[in-house]
Amino acid sequence: MPDALHTLTIAQLRRLLTAGEISAADIVRSLDSAIAARDGVTGAYLFRDTDAALAEAAAADLSKPLGGIPVGLKDVINLAGQPLTCGSKILAGHYTSPYDATVVSRLRAAGAVPFGKLNMDEFAMGSSTENSALQVTRNPVDPTRVPGGSSGGSAAAVAAGEAIATLGTDTGGSIRQPASFCGVVGLKPSYGRVSRFGLVAYASSLDQIGPVTRTVEDAALVLNAIAGPDERDSTSAQNAPVEDYTAAVRQDVKGLRIGLPKEYFIDGIDPEVKAAVEAAVRELESQGAEIREVSLPHTQYAIATYYIIATAEASANLARFDGIRYGHRCENPADLRDLYDRSRAEGFGPEVKRRIILGTYVLSSGYYDAYYLRAQKVRALIRQDFDRVFQEVDVLACPTSPTPAFKLGEHTKDPLEMYLADIFTIAANLAGICGISVPCGHTAATADTPALPIGLQFLGRSMGESQILRAAAGWERSFTAR
Ligand code: GLN
Repeated sequence: MPDALHTLTIAQLRRLLTAGEISAADIVRSLDSAIAARDGVTGAYLFRDTDAALAEAAAADLSKPLGGIPVGLKDVINLAGQPLTCGSKILAGHYTSPYDATVVSRLRAAGAVPFGKLNMDEFAMGSSTENSALQVTRNPVDPTRVPGGSSGGSAAAVAAGEAIATLGTDTGGSIRQPASFCGVVGLKPSYGRVSRFGLVAYASSLDQIGPVTRTVEDAALVLNAIAGPDERDSTSAQNAPVEDYTAAVRQDVKGLRIGLPKEYFIDGIDPEVKAAVEAAVRELESQGAEIREVSLPHTQYAIATYYIIATAEASANLARFDGIRYGHRCENPADLRDLYDRSRAEGFGPEVKRRIILGTYVLSSGYYDAYYLRAQKVRALIRQDFDRVFQEVDVLACPTSPTPAFKLGEHTKDPLEMYLADIFTIAANLAGICGISVPCGHTAATADTPALPIGLQFLGRSMGESQILRAAAGWERSFTAR
């Protein structure tokens, strides 16, 4: 039996499984020992039930597209019978999922084995996983650095060889940015492409679940399994047919029209990041892609708009954590009001509180028009920018993040600094379009820093997942051939 199964791709493991060379339980065991050996440093896993996964692996239908493949879950996705924390003290030790999220039932229907719950910024609010109230997750490439966030556990686990593939969620960049920091592939589907049923909501009009994997092909395989309408999520797209995304991965990039948004190549980007992305674009051009510069003039408003809309929605969504229906309840409440106040004060961390307060403020009657309503109007302008450029090009290429992974603690003092980490990812969520981050080389190693991964991002029109997968696979082929 080949060893190091935990380091292989879905496609490689599927070949071994269908050839009868390994069993699905072998993969779970290999992951379990990798996690036991490494997760003390990585800190990606909050919980795993190896016995349950082994039992499910033994029963997995290997004739299915993901038959026998373990898939880890960001701990904001419900997995029946297992604890769910959202990285928060308000739920940790207090909540067990009563049902499976739709993505979990679809993974199971495709033969996959859900295995393990992964660390995250509390309620997916953050860009470094440092807002988790439960544990620190480290970047496997350099343990003094953050893995990115909020799906930091999902990306770190794949990068560390502690998972084959995972699901993350992306509200403003939380799949793509950690994938970029850890040197793996992360795909945010278009809004409505994947059901949100069973995902704990952060900002309902922005959230999407998507795969984190080692290769673009693996991302397509997972997306094939989880995409499609769901009668339990009225925002899932009813009339957009699910394509076979692996077909797009096999296509070359000849004639693909790639736009370079000039607002995404600004000063302030790390020069090595800029150079790596520009080199990738030249390579795609040499493979026959057509490159042209485009403009998304409202880009500069994206972060401000996002932090009004996301906090407004979060303040409403998080009202359900009241000490009565879910989670932590304070000791000896004097009355109902005291129970609400103290349960929430004790249960939520500082970033979550900051956002609930901000969101409540922008929705309050005196400020609604000035902030929330205005943000919705700007959101429409941002969406129109994308609609316009996608009449001229098939995909956009740009950096995923302006910098490589930063140091633990580097941006924790000033929340605004952390908010800038998502400057290139946030507009896609506001517009509801899809995006993927794919590895694009490394920074040069120095005496005290190893070479750090750089991410190349492709953005595509709503339901245009095939085009971004095609571009990303084209780049990946030439990159890995070097
Ligand atoms: N970093 C952004 C935030 O803090 C995005 C998070 C996300 O995509 N979940 O809200």
